[in-house]
Amino acid sequence: MKLGIIGTGYVGLVTGACLADHGHTVHCIDIDAKKVARLSKGELPIYEPELDELVNRNIEKNRLQFTTDLASCINEVDALFLAVGTPPRADHSADLSAVEAASRQIGQLLNKYLVVITKSTVPVGTSELVRKTIQENLANDVTFDVASNPEFLREGAAVRDFMEPDRIVVGVDSERAESILREIYKPFIQNDHPFIVTTIKSAEVIKYASNAFLATKISFINEVANFCEVAGATIDDVAKGMGLDSRIGHKYLHAGLGYGGSCFPKDIKALVATGKSFGSPFRLLEAVETINQHQQLRVVTKLAQHLGDLKGKTVAIWGLAFKAKTDDIREAPALRIIEALRDAGAKVQVFDPVVKQIEYDVVMSEDAISACKDADGLLIVTEWEDFLYPDFKALKKQLKNPLIIDGRNLYTPEAVVAEGFVYDSIGRPKRSS
Ligand code: NAD
Repeated sequence: MKLGIIGTGYVGLVTGACLADHGHTVHCIDIDAKKVARLSKGELPIYEPELDELVNRNIEKNRLQFTTDLASCINEVDALFLAVGTPPRADHSADLSAVEAASRQIGQLLNKYLVVITKSTVPVGTSELVRKTIQENLANDVTFDVASNPEFLREGAAVRDFMEPDRIVVGVDSERAESILREIYKPFIQNDHPFIVTTIKSAEVIKYASNAFLATKISFINEVANFCEVAGATIDDVAKGMGLDSRIGHKYLHAGLGYGGSCFPKDIKALVATGKSFGSPFRLLEAVETINQHQQLRVVTKLAQHLGDLKGKTVAIWGLAFKAKTDDIREAPALRIIEALRDAGAKVQVFDPVVKQIEYDVVMSEDAISACKDADGLLIVTEWEDFLYPDFKALKKQLKNPLIIDGRNLYTPEAVVAEGFVYDSIGRPKRSS
């Protein structure tokens, strides 16, 4: 089939490349001319495992094209996905201005039937807004359908998640739209990936409710971890013992610095805002978000417990990305930690294997060990594999004070203490030699 995707960010690009790899011809449309120019040459604007090869393979096969000009392809495609950003507004509701701008443009350009599929994460009712906006801007007498097809991929595993989905959710209100979506996803359906057809509104809610549930699991285990610290229990054992219950499961039960990134924080806040606007408040999710805010700064609280006043102290940070295997720093705990350290008057030295630039006054280091030079303590903020087996002897030499505060529980406490460090992590008894 011929497909169009408006918005070539993490979701649009992965969707485009994966659908092209299944044999569709895909036009990726973006307003960012620089991004389009780079992608047209096969250069990726983001870091995402497996994506580079996938994009280039499909460019070579002429199945993947990039353009800023929606008019050049809109009337050639069988279906058009909306994968533009839906960032948070100041009042926490989702900013739908990109969705609306794209919808207006679609209306103005459409001259044949098309199904417009919202893949962006949007509040319930947004597909109706898309329909209304297109309708109001129609320049030609044509019919069209709208559909909702939320995306569940995770950055860092986006290609695998898209190719091997737990489920494909499709919200439709016309048979024609459903049959087009079935055709698009035929290779996935043939591979036994569940294909769930719902109403448009239910599909929209499934996405937010799924993210909200996962965020709840994270905040839940983090509160249990904080409790373990004062109660003298070990979160690793507690989470393992809980996770073996098939009703609970192990996933998203890793205590740490809470969730970050471009999805969970904004989606939880947006769902809370939508709930309020419908007069059906999400009291649980308000608590989930508050707990997360506290948890992100847990390593700073611990650092102050160890060092006292942080003014004039030098602090090393390992990891900026909101999680491993991505370069995304949107709502990353590291940024809030840096702000808190800056406000406390500390100097910050940072290393991340992939993120090499941030708009903060910090020392960006070439490697993990040199980030620790003369530091009063090391904070581990992202669970990059690169940090799993550090040269502890070299690390001890670099640090002025052998203190490691591990926000991701990467190490066995006994092993780090045996190397001569004071080691403090999340939800485990404190250790020092
Ligand atoms: P992104 O910011 O990486 O990409 C959005 C892209 O849309 C940008 O390249 C931007 O230039 C482009 N754009 C904006 N307005 C446009 C317009 N009018 N016409 C053409 N292009 C336009 O965002 P993302 O992370 O890919 O997320 C997109 C949507 O998918 C969001 O709603 C997000 O919540 C959702 N989502 C994201 C993830 C994720 O892991 N990133 C996962 C699932 C769902």
